[in-house]
Formats: sequence, C-alpha cells, structure tokens
Amino acid sequence: MSPPDIADIDWDAVTEEATDLLSRYIQIDTTNPPGNEAPAVRFLEEILRKNGIDDITFYDASDDESQGRLNMLARLPGDGSAKPFVLLNHTDVVPVERDGWDEEPFAGLVKDGVIWGRGAVDMKGMGVMELIAMLLIKRQGIPLKRDIVFLAVADEEAGSDYGAEFLAREHPETLDAEYVLNEGGWGTTEMMDTDRPAFNCAVSEKGPCWLKLTTVGRPGHGSVPHGDSALDRLLRALHRVQEWQRPRTVVPELAEFFAQAHAGGYIEDEPTEESIIKLGERNPIFAALTTNTISVTTINSGVKHNVIPATAEATLDCRLLPGTDAEKFIEELRGVIDDPEVGIERVLISSTPSSPLDTGLMAVIKDVVREHVEDAVVLPSVSSGFTDSRVFRNRGVTAYGFIPVLMTPSESIAIHGHNERLSIDNLRLGCQILYEILRRTCA
Ligand SMILES: [Zn+2]
Repeated sequence: MSPPDIADIDWDAVTEEATDLLSRYIQIDTTNPPGNEAPAVRFLEEILRKNGIDDITFYDASDDESQGRLNMLARLPGDGSAKPFVLLNHTDVVPVERDGWDEEPFAGLVKDGVIWGRGAVDMKGMGVMELIAMLLIKRQGIPLKRDIVFLAVADEEAGSDYGAEFLAREHPETLDAEYVLNEGGWGTTEMMDTDRPAFNCAVSEKGPCWLKLTTVGRPGHGSVPHGDSALDRLLRALHRVQEWQRPRTVVPELAEFFAQAHAGGYIEDEPTEESIIKLGERNPIFAALTTNTISVTTINSGVKHNVIPATAEATLDCRLLPGTDAEKFIEELRGVIDDPEVGIERVLISSTPSSPLDTGLMAVIKDVVREHVEDAVVLPSVSSGFTDSRVFRNRGVTAYGFIPVLMTPSESIAIHGHNERLSIDNLRLGCQILYEILRRTCA
C-alpha cells in the first residue's frame, strides 16, 4: 500500500484545528517558575485520546519542593523495524513582563491571522505542529516502520531538572530513538542581509556553564572603609572578568553553516575564519557563536546604605562553544580573577556532541522544505542557547532543532521577549512540513 498523497488532507480544516488547539494551549499558564505543567499535559492527553492514541505514559517528577511537574510520552506504534522518531516539546514557558505586551499574553488571542501569547513559538506552537502531524498519520492509518513518539516534557526553561534531565536520570528508556525533532532552529524570511528565506536546522549548540562567584569579608561601618569588604572584592573580580579578552574561533560546525550559506547564495564571498569573525562585529548572535561568552546576570550583597556587607555573590551565565572543556574554562577564569579568596561554585554545566549532518532525516528535511517554500534552503546551524536535545545527543541519538516556520526578524526577537506570536500561515506551514517529514521517515 502506498501512503496517501498529501493532497488528500484538507489543510484548511487542519489549520483551523491547529489554531484552536494552540489558542487553548496558550491559555494554560505554565510560566516557569513554578511550571506546574500538569494541566498542560492533561490538555494534550485529552486530544490524543480523542484521536484514539491511548498508549500514553506519565512521568511525574514532582517532589517536596515543586508540584505538578508532569512529563508525558505518547506512542503511535510502528512494526519495530526501525528505531523510534521522537517529537520533543516542552510544556513550560518563560515569564512575561505584562507591561511590554500589546495583547494579553495568556488569553490565546487570535487576531488578524496571528496567534498571540507566551509560548506561541517557544514552544507550544511547535508542540501543536508535532501533535497535529502525529494525529494526521494516525487518522490516515499509515503503516509505520518505527514508533512515532510525542514527548512533552516539563521544566526546559529552568534547566530541565524536572523534565528531560529527570527522564535521562530515572527513565532512560524514554530516550530510545533514532531521530529527534525539537526546538533550537527555525526559518527566517531573510538571512545575513539577503532577502530570501532560509531554514536553520540546529545540529549543535553551545553548552551552559553557570557559575556563582562568592566572597566573604569583614563587616563594618560604612563610614570606616577597611579594605576587606566582600563586595569590593567581588567587584574587583567582576572587573577582571569583564576585561578578559577571550580568543575568537570558528568551530567546524559553524564553518559548515557558512560554507552551506555560501553555496546556497546567501553570502557572496567565500567565507573565511576572518570574515566570519568580522560578521560578529555587527551581529550579536554570530559574535556569541565565535567565542565562549560570559554574562554577569545577578549580584547580591548588602543590607543597608551604611553597612559594609560581610558576603557578596554574583552569577555568571557562561556559554561554551561546542567542544570546550568546562573545567579548563573554569581554571582559566580562576587565573583571570587571580584571587584565591573568590569562590567559584558550579551551578549548571552541560555539554553535548553535535549531531551528524549526513542522515536520512536531514535529506528528507531538505527535500520537504524545498517542495514547500520556493527558493529556501536548509542550513545546519549552531544554536547559541541550549535545549533538551542535549540529553539525546549525549546518548548518540540524532537530534535536530527545527521549528519549520518562517519568521521575520521582529517575530524572532519576540521569543522570550514581548509580544510573542505566530501567524496562522506559519502554523499551517509547520504542520504541513512536519507531517511530510514524518510520513517520509516513518512510513
Ligand atoms: Zn524553548
């Protein structure tokens, strides 16, 4: 039996269904912290069951400190001749600053062809596309050679301790797969000043190295400085960190991105290490992708205007290039700070190998994109942020970050910012591309 043709699907009806689902999904506030993802998972469960998908397992990561941290795995079984295809999505979202928004962030508003709200892209929108693609395969009764797994995880926006990391620790069998699609890359309407669509498919990502600097000193009266202030010590350390000139380099994964961007006609001149590094001077993302970055994100010290504090601490959000040894980086940092009285605590350190480019899945993604979006190419990219793909990549599973939508620069910056939104056209495109990728790789 040959698989049904894509033309058999009523895409107007599917788009309407997807829009309604996403609108309702956004209304379930899963701001993390605290997350409380259980109601979102129950919402997804109901839709799966309504469509006859009952092979569903829950993994509750809740503990004394945090409740409602539910993860869910739903399976559409194949005949087992190939390993599963995992549609990975997280159900939590980052907080909003309501005053900066033009529309209510948790109302699920649909207006002028656009779905508004926190999570519209990151990543409830992608979750809905994954869900719809799976439902379509189910409705069409397409025989599968591998399981299609819909994996909805908690806590991605806070380090995944109650989500993907919990599953990797306690239920590693849930990570058994050949392929994973997740967030991490998406399409843009323009690429490096070239007014032509391109789809980033993230094959690699920088690793988080979150550190806390701590100092202690002698408390005292603000009127009598004594040279042993914890805060002064911390500020001297931070100053040295800020002055630290770290080398810029182009990792092989980024070189490949630029080589393919050149081959695809997005940049005219043959890219060199020098020209790529130069691009970073006017593009903060490429700047971040050519070095290990450090952002000082919080400082805590002091109780009163006229009291010299006895303790001080600062958090550093360091992001390391693929292939960087975090311990070596910390040793270098220690040398830069050059003060044995400054403590360096490790808060979160994670790294991941890159996924290969020459896979059957990548070939299908490129074909399907070419068929759906005229003139667009797929570029294997490096993500400046980290995603749950790391737990899969660390187990040797191919995981790509690929949200198949085409966003304008103003839509892209709304992710984690104000006015996050997704056009209905993009939702439709995403459902179509994901469905077609699944059909070709799993049927
Ligand atoms: Zn996300």
